[in-house]
Amino acid sequence: MQDTTKNGATGCGCKPAAEPKFPEQVTGMYILAQALKKVGIDTIYGLVGIPVTEAAYIAQGQGIRFLGFRHEQQAGMAAATHGYLTGKPGVLLTVSSLGFMNGLTATANATVNCYPMIQISGSSEREPIDLNQGNYEALDQYSVAKTVAKAAYRVNRAEDIPIAVVRAYRTAISGRPGGVYLDITAPCLGQIVDHDVAEKLLFTPVDPQPAMVPSPASVDRAMKLLASAKKPAFIFGKGAAFAQVEDLLTQLVEKTGIPFYPMSMAKGLMPDKHPLSALSCRSTIMEEADVVVLVGARLNWLLSRGHGKWSPDTKFIQLDIDPVEIDCNRQIDAPVVGDLRSSLEAMLNSLPSYKMSMDAAWVPGLQAQTKVKNAKFAERLAVKTVPMTHWSALSAAKEVIEANPDVILVNEGANTLDDTRDTIDMSLPRHRVDCATWAIMGMGMGSAVGAAVATGKSVVAIEGDSAFGFSGMDFSTICRYELPVTVCIFNNGGIYNGIGEPLDKTTDPAPTTLDINARYDKLAEAFGAKAYYVTTPDEYAAALKEAIASKAPALIDVQLAADAGKESGHIGYLNPASLIPVTV
Ligand code: ADP
Ligand code: MG
Repeated sequence: MQDTTKNGATGCGCKPAAEPKFPEQVTGMYILAQALKKVGIDTIYGLVGIPVTEAAYIAQGQGIRFLGFRHEQQAGMAAATHGYLTGKPGVLLTVSSLGFMNGLTATANATVNCYPMIQISGSSEREPIDLNQGNYEALDQYSVAKTVAKAAYRVNRAEDIPIAVVRAYRTAISGRPGGVYLDITAPCLGQIVDHDVAEKLLFTPVDPQPAMVPSPASVDRAMKLLASAKKPAFIFGKGAAFAQVEDLLTQLVEKTGIPFYPMSMAKGLMPDKHPLSALSCRSTIMEEADVVVLVGARLNWLLSRGHGKWSPDTKFIQLDIDPVEIDCNRQIDAPVVGDLRSSLEAMLNSLPSYKMSMDAAWVPGLQAQTKVKNAKFAERLAVKTVPMTHWSALSAAKEVIEANPDVILVNEGANTLDDTRDTIDMSLPRHRVDCATWAIMGMGMGSAVGAAVATGKSVVAIEGDSAFGFSGMDFSTICRYELPVTVCIFNNGGIYNGIGEPLDKTTDPAPTTLDINARYDKLAEAFGAKAYYVTTPDEYAAALKEAIASKAPALIDVQLAADAGKESGHIGYLNPASLIPVTV
């Protein structure tokens, strides 16, 4: 730890001009820790260095848990996952310039996914930044963050830290949640304030996440439309998982008998195996449903933006907290703008006044289709191919994870993502965390840490070998904090697969080629975790079972065939063109 007791400002301005006289005086860093505690923050994810090292020590000293990472992006993914799973903003602490930029990736991703988080970053002193004079790690971080965060604030005076923290907290959690950036300059962190003055500045915000009740007229319009539907369906999104409204959804589904389709991270809000689950009937809903109720789900690219397979005649009811989400891709016939708990309660309360007119054949038809599709899927999983494909490996993972339903599943990759989502049924809410709205790679280790720390539950991360590479070094963070996380790396030796051929005469590997012979289990050995290398479904099932039961860090290198997997998994259609041989 650096010596913080020397007098005089340094080049970066992070030292107080004079030594604070404890306990009569405190620094901005101490005020920051107290302000975070006042809003109920008990955990910070981050990576220290100038000018925030002492801030992290002080926070720890004040009883806030600090989890130190190897890369800020992963610390940010952990904070975002913490926010999503707990319903309270997760906090990320970063250093200036590049550390800030690395963390900002996660803040931007949190904003896109509506996860509440706050990125707090130290920044270099203002004056040389504004005159572009080449100071240490000088970057106008506030202006950069504004473009991708839900909001950004900068604090220049220690006495403003309490109000800034409350403002960041309120912004992250109210309305549509998102990532908020809080810039604190180095001189501000080191500024000295009298203790009694600082104490008076601290406060806990009243009702930071106020209920937003929908208008009765909007509820009535929606209920009338729903009651008129012959082939209605609910679509649950991760907004509903975040809002923790599974109790109300269950009542609404079971009272109306209307089937539901969960988006990826909404799986488990109601069990995937529930008789009214239409998980296997996505296309039929798009083509045939006459009224669809979107519950905390956006009609974005993941739902073909309301076009493609969707019938032009389908009418939509949309329950969302954000009024500008409505009509964003297609006309919404009955918007219900409010927080989901208030909106669903209003719908449930008024339900007895409406007579539903659903076709008697709609649900049995979907159930028959589900049966046929699931039987076909089971046939595919039953083939225990060796060397393993994604399917044969997942047949093993399915058996073990479904027998341990309270394990949180973190999942990223291309084929590894798509096939895992389709294979593993979820039965509990908020037990699936994946690369979500942007379909990004590089959330795995961070989200696994965030999920384990925020919930105290065991986590299994199923990772493509490429996806793992983005965050692999933070497997060491899982080990350092001894978290009950099992990381499974589906190694098919490449991005999509390991059989890419370069088009020209280069002797270099193809752009998609990675390391089919890599022994990722050796990485686990390096950090003292349980290490497994498996080549058959039976070996994988045994290793996964043992690893989960151990409640200790573990890594399973799941050796797949190099030709397992196709380009871009299920979304190959998004590539601009297929490969054309290049002639020079
Ligand atoms: P998915 O990817 O699962 O379809 P999205 O992230 O696209 O889910 O959609 C989530 C939606 O949920 C967003 O439009 C967001 O505004 C909304 N939302 C988030 N929290 C709440 C809440 N408490 N009440 C109502 N809507 C919410
Ligand atoms: Mg791969």
